[in-house]
Amino acid sequence: MKQETILKARTKLAAALPSTTEILRGSLLHRRIRHRSGCAVCAKGPGHPVWVLTVSYPGGRTKQISLSAEQKVLVQQWLRNYRKLKDTLERICELNLQLLRPEKNA
Ligand SMILES: [Zn+2]
Repeated sequence: MKQETILKARTKLAAALPSTTEILRGSLLHRRIRHRSGCAVCAKGPGHPVWVLTVSYPGGRTKQISLSAEQKVLVQQWLRNYRKLKDTLERICELNLQLLRPEKNA
């Protein structure tokens, strides 16, 4: 790629970056909570569905948070934003790498 093409591609990627504030790292899991006794719902049904956000840290540490249905929608959006932000930053880095080491006859 020509230098000019790389610079244009870089600008285009940067302009399409998602929000840098509404982001969240982690995974969304669907679980069911079952009460052992005293719950009519669990006694005759499959329990209570819950959404859990799991965030892992270096060293194997994790944090888990139960989410309300409303929060789940928000969290899904924030997780998408984070992934897109990360992917886009990675692509910009690759372009910058090409700027440092242009291929011959490109
Ligand atoms: Zn229950």
